[in-house]
Amino acid sequence: MPTPACIAVLGGGFSGAMTAVNVARLSDRPMHIVVVDDRGSVGRGVAYSVRRPEYLLNVAARNMSAFRDEPDHFLRWLRTRAEFDPLPDAELSEQFVPRQVYGDYLRSIVENHLCGAGHRPCVSTELVTGEAVDIEPGDGHGVIRMADGARIAAEKIVLATGNEPPAPLPGAGAHDDHPAWVANPWRQWEHRLPDTGSIAILGTGLTAVDAIITLGDLGWRGSIHAISRHGWLPQPHFRGVEYPEFPPAGIDLTELGLDALRRLVSAHCAELVARDADPAIVVDKLRPYTQRIWSRFSREERLEFARRDAARWNVLRHRIAPEIHDQVEQARRAGVLTVHAGSIGQVQAVGEKIRICVEAQQPVVADLVINATGPSTRFSATRSVLLRNLLTRGMVSPDDTDMGIRVDRDHTVLTCRGDRSAWLLALGPTLRGTYWETIAVPELRVQAQRVAETLLGTVPADVEEEGQLRLEHML
Ligand SMILES: Cc1cc2nc3c(=O)[nH]c(=O)nc-3n(C[C@H](O)[C@H](O)[C@H](O)COP(=O)(O)OP(=O)(O)OC[C@H]3O[C@@H](n4cnc5c(N)ncnc54)[C@H](O)[C@@H]3O)c2cc1C
Repeated sequence: MPTPACIAVLGGGFSGAMTAVNVARLSDRPMHIVVVDDRGSVGRGVAYSVRRPEYLLNVAARNMSAFRDEPDHFLRWLRTRAEFDPLPDAELSEQFVPRQVYGDYLRSIVENHLCGAGHRPCVSTELVTGEAVDIEPGDGHGVIRMADGARIAAEKIVLATGNEPPAPLPGAGAHDDHPAWVANPWRQWEHRLPDTGSIAILGTGLTAVDAIITLGDLGWRGSIHAISRHGWLPQPHFRGVEYPEFPPAGIDLTELGLDALRRLVSAHCAELVARDADPAIVVDKLRPYTQRIWSRFSREERLEFARRDAARWNVLRHRIAPEIHDQVEQARRAGVLTVHAGSIGQVQAVGEKIRICVEAQQPVVADLVINATGPSTRFSATRSVLLRNLLTRGMVSPDDTDMGIRVDRDHTVLTCRGDRSAWLLALGPTLRGTYWETIAVPELRVQAQRVAETLLGTVPADVEEEGQLRLEHML
C-alpha cells in the first residue's frame, strides 16, 4: 500500500484523537495528519469535556490507559498531579478519577504527540475546528467538505464521530425550543434549572446518573423523577470476588449461541445469588469473550439480544463508582429521587411545563425534562449531516442489524455494494453492530491502535489470520 500523504480524522474525541496520536508516534513514513472536530478541544470529546469535578470515571484508573501497549500510562500520568500524591500505588489504581482530570490527561497526550515534539519527525499535524458535512470522492482520495465551505483533500479518512444524540421521543420534536425540554443531555442545561418544582429525567442509565449527581451538587431542593422501561439504575463496582466456576472448563462460550448462553449465564447468576454474591461477576467474566461471542451470533440472535437482554446487560455491565452509587441511593432514600418503571410515551407541552406519559402509570409533569434515554442506535436514522450524506452517496452502509457503520475486519468501511472503501475507515461507538462492546476506553484504545496500524499497513499477521480484533483481558 503506498503511504498516504494526508490522513484526515473526522471527530476529535478519544477515538479520533488516539487514532491520530498512534499514527503520529508510529509512522516511519512522511505523513500529514489532520484532525477535524466541531467542539474544538481535541482529545476530550463529549465524555471528558465536562467541567464538573463531581463526575467520576466509571472505570478504575488501572484500566484507563489511552495506549494499548502501555497499560500503566494513565497511572504514571496521575503521579504528576499533586492531589494523588498521598495515595499508595495499590489505592491509586482502584480510584475512579474525575472525568475532567481524564480530559486533562487526553489533552496532555494530544499536546505532546500532535502539537509538540512527541510525533515522529516525518509527521506533520493540523487540528481544524469545524463540522465536516460531506465527503466527495476524488481520484484515489476523498475531499471533505466543511460546513463553512472549506475543503480538505485526504488519501485516507477516518470516521470517529462518536455517539449519536438520544433518539427523538414521540411528540418531542415539537418542543425543541421549549424552555423546559432538554433534548441533548450532553449540552449544558444547569442554567435552565428552575428554583424549585420537579425535574424529570428520561432514562435511568449513566447519563441519568450524571444529572442526578449534578442536581445534588447544585443543592437542588425540588423533586427528581427518573423514568425508564425497567427503572433499573446502574449498579456499583465491587472488588475481589473469586468465581472460578465461570466460564466452565471445556465449554467454548463463543460456540454456544444465544439460547444456550442465556441458560448458562442464568444458572451461574442464580448460583451467585444463592451464595449471596453479585451476579454481575458473570458479566465481568464474559467480557474477554464478548466481541467474539457477538461476532458469531447470527443477525437474528444479535437483534434478539438487543431487544430482550440489552437492558439487563447494561445494568450489570456499565457499573458506576461506589461513591456515586451511594449518592444516588441517598437521594432515593431521602425521597428526593423517585424512579418510575414504564415505557415512555408522548411528550407534551403544558404551558411552561412538560408532561410525560408513562405506560400504565400517572403522567409525570415537570418544570424541566432531560432526555437521557441514551444514544440512538438506528444508524439509518442518523442525525449527523455528514453520515446522512455518506449514506446517500452509498459510501457507508448500515451493518446488518442497522446499529452502526458496516466495516471490514481491519476497520475499512464497506460501501453500499459491499466493496471495501478505497479511503474510508471507521471506529468507535458507531461500530456497535459489529462489536457490541465498542463504547469504553478499554475497547477504543485497541481500535485506535488497530486503525493506525491499518493506515500504516502494519497490521500484525495474527490479527489478519484471526479475522477479528485480538481480545485483551479488559477487567
Ligand atoms: C457522559 C459519558 C461518560 C462516560 N464515561 C466513561 C468512563 O468513565 N470510562 C470509559 O471508558 N468510557 C466512558 N464513556 C464512554 C465514552 O464514550 C468513550 O470513553 C469515548 O470518550 C468515546 O469517544 P469517541 O471519540 O468515540 O466519541 P466522542 O467523545 O463522542 O467524540 C466524537 C467527537 O467527534 C465530533 N464530531 C462528530 N461529528 C463530527 C463532524 N461531522 N465534524 C466534526 N466533528 C464531529 C463530536 O463533536 C465529538 O467531539 C462515557 C461516555 C459518556 C457520554
